[in-house]
Amino acid sequence: MFSSTIVAPVTPPGEGGVCILRLSGPESLDILEQVFSGQVAAREMLPRRLYLGSLHDLTGQVIDHVFSVHMPAPHSYTGEHVVELHCHGGSLIRRLVIDLLLSCGARMASPGEFTQRAFLNGKLDLTQAESVANLIGARSLRASQQALGQLEGKLSRRIHFFADVLKRMLVEIEACIDFPDDEVEIVDRVNILERSMSLKHQMSDLLNSFDTGRILREGLSLLIVGRPNVGKSSLLNSLLGEQRAIVTDIPGTTRDTIEESIEFAGFPVRLIDTAGVRHTNDPVERLGVERTKSQLALSDLILLVVDASQPVHEDDCLAAKLCPPDKTLLILNKSDLPFSFQVNDLGKFSLQVEVSAKYGLHLDALQSAVKSFFDGDGSSVGSGEDLMINDRRHYDALLASRRSLQSFTESLSRPEVPLECLAFDLRSCLDGLGVITGETTPDDILTQIFSRFCIGK
Ligand code: GDP
Repeated sequence: MFSSTIVAPVTPPGEGGVCILRLSGPESLDILEQVFSGQVAAREMLPRRLYLGSLHDLTGQVIDHVFSVHMPAPHSYTGEHVVELHCHGGSLIRRLVIDLLLSCGARMASPGEFTQRAFLNGKLDLTQAESVANLIGARSLRASQQALGQLEGKLSRRIHFFADVLKRMLVEIEACIDFPDDEVEIVDRVNILERSMSLKHQMSDLLNSFDTGRILREGLSLLIVGRPNVGKSSLLNSLLGEQRAIVTDIPGTTRDTIEESIEFAGFPVRLIDTAGVRHTNDPVERLGVERTKSQLALSDLILLVVDASQPVHEDDCLAAKLCPPDKTLLILNKSDLPFSFQVNDLGKFSLQVEVSAKYGLHLDALQSAVKSFFDGDGSSVGSGEDLMINDRRHYDALLASRRSLQSFTESLSRPEVPLECLAFDLRSCLDGLGVITGETTPDDILTQIFSRFCIGK
């Protein structure tokens, strides 16, 4: 438990109906007693009930009419005595109330300090604490469901399950180190090898979820590429559901890139419409095309748009040459018109969808194709049931842990390797897992993690 009592607004700045200020620490209730007068005295308030009253400064001057609620330790978010004041949401009131609470002995909370206290008081493990920031920052339903699953402890449970398997093997090996002469305690290497191989596969499955998990958290970039006039801007507009890019039948209207954020196929997506690719001497257009080229490498998926009502144009081939087939989805646009396009003339693009951007036809097929590109069969999209790793820190620690397990399994099949070395590998493996849940995470990393939060979290 900490000796200081901290305060911060937990609602965003600006004017609004309500501004909530949170106090956490041993003095919370004493401070409330000094500034709040309601029908019930602060000390008499039942836990977790809202009480209406007036908030006054130390001279008795009323500042605001507020609701206050008290959540006694340890049954609060931080595990400490927490008081919340629901004031009116004006910036002046907010400042006056904060100044008042500071003058009563509280200090301003630093970014992430409430959650850091919750972690240090054992209310949340590190993956859960990190998920609070992910939940707040989620930009798609699926991303928020992933964060919620992590907050509910799904990832921690899986990591603890891995750790339990390792601990059981470690106990067996250490027993043989401690009692080498006891016949019963001979290490069953074959049995342990089987268990560790199975664990390694389970770790690998979790590691493999990182690509999708990262995209869910950070969002993916979809680049719309193609020669002028094939319907790139129309596609952007239909996906956005509004007229954002200028659509004309004069080739080359979009000379630079246009970027919009949407939720698409369950993913948070940055949709980028690029300048049309074509042979040109116009310096402005050439710059746009150069910019498109540099963005191709950075994008997660390219939507290569062609006009399927026309035969293949040499500029279609030019655009196609820029697109790596393994991350390109060929969009055969203008499917409302008779089909004249020879797909084979363009090169190998196994992923294809026919749409009509202008009339919004078959966008669901496009959505499914994007889903399956990132998700395999896409069946799990939207469910939020699947457990994923979405944080580079978790990924690196799990990878290190699996490496130690790999070294352990290799040593197991070599009888000359002493049991002490096997135990060492298992302990490194456990340490890696502890870094994920926060049990063995160094203090400077913890400080870094919480400093990424904002004030009031
Ligand atoms: P961009 O230069 O590739 O961005 O192409 P635009 O989106 O500006 O569209 C060029 C022209 O094609 C416009 O006249 C659009 O109305 C038309 N167009 C775009 N998509 C379709 C479609 O699906 N069907 C038909 N028939 N016309 C389309």
